[in-house]
Amino acid sequence: MSFDPKSLAAPGVRTLAPYVPGKPIEELEREYGVRDSIKLASNENPLGPGPRALQAIAEASRSIGLYPDGGGFALKEALARKHTCAGDCITLGNGSNDVLVMIAEAFLTPQSEAVYSQYGFAVYPIAVQATGAVARVAPAYPADHAMPLGHDLDAMARLVGDKTRVVFVANPNNPTGTSVGREPLQQFVASLPAQTLVVIDEAYIEYVEDPEFADASRWLAAHPNLIVTRTFSKAYGLAGLRVGYALSHPSVADLLNRVRQPFNVNTVALAAARAALDDVEHLKRSVELNRAGMAQLQRGLDALNVRHLPSRGNFVLVDCARPAGPVYEAMLRQGVIVRPVGNYQLPTHLRLTIGTPVQNERMLSALGLALNP
Ligand code: PMP
Repeated sequence: MSFDPKSLAAPGVRTLAPYVPGKPIEELEREYGVRDSIKLASNENPLGPGPRALQAIAEASRSIGLYPDGGGFALKEALARKHTCAGDCITLGNGSNDVLVMIAEAFLTPQSEAVYSQYGFAVYPIAVQATGAVARVAPAYPADHAMPLGHDLDAMARLVGDKTRVVFVANPNNPTGTSVGREPLQQFVASLPAQTLVVIDEAYIEYVEDPEFADASRWLAAHPNLIVTRTFSKAYGLAGLRVGYALSHPSVADLLNRVRQPFNVNTVALAAARAALDDVEHLKRSVELNRAGMAQLQRGLDALNVRHLPSRGNFVLVDCARPAGPVYEAMLRQGVIVRPVGNYQLPTHLRLTIGTPVQNERMLSALGLALNP
């Protein structure tokens, strides 16, 4: 008897294309025999965690023999203060990725539909497809638009129907870096029917310094069908610990918490995230470094004549105007890991994470050499 697990899998899972992560440094050095490599492939904070988080990590690691606080009381309390909401509006996740999956699990079925944008963050299609729900993908703005490859909220709205249970909007979006304006987004949210939940993924919002930028967490009281997701992986520098969260109406949070694993956020992560919230200085330094790095990268890319998209995140999407695979490979050989985005059907683009000034310089010169050997 032959064993065919594929035929046993849920239909959505059978054809699922797995998430492709950035290449780890150790893997590159093993495969290419290079040393002193840098990874600017996963939109991490080049400064890593701040001093307060590091101290909390050292202290919390002494109690890892015990299960974590499954309710995440202290972190939720601090987040509730930050967002002036009640603790029961918060759902903690093992990264915000975990929260996105919980939303799909709690609200999508093979009979329902989800809407997201072409070039929207890669976890949306994966989370949706695993549930068997139908994905409706709205065409993004064209490359010659003022917000190239960005979310077209009108096109998304046109795909919302009776069966739409969840709409995903990343603001800013990864991998494009594009964003949607506050007023159009607010109108979009207000236009959705009550039976459609809208997720606004604000993984990169800390990097946006424009006071006019949409902070959808302020709209929660007005829209019970709104879910806002945030993360400690980016500006807070805790990607390896995995902490993120959703803000929503308490009744939505109650449902999300039903599918949440009881101890999904570990003891060390809970303590580090709690401490990171108080480290205003580190957050400020991280945002300043990103601002300077963005300017450095834009100047360098202009000098190389490489087209780049307007980005509000800690990364820039560039169009190599030729197949990006060989460019990526040539950069790898120079010990610089960036991110190809062929999985987004963008075969000529590369996504560059902003690093320290020295790392940015090295990335630019590796890109220059890769393009003009
Ligand atoms: N949303 C967006 C837009 C992202 O780019 C990412 C990370 N790549 C995530 C969510 C998930 O990040 P994490 O699980 O580390 O919070």
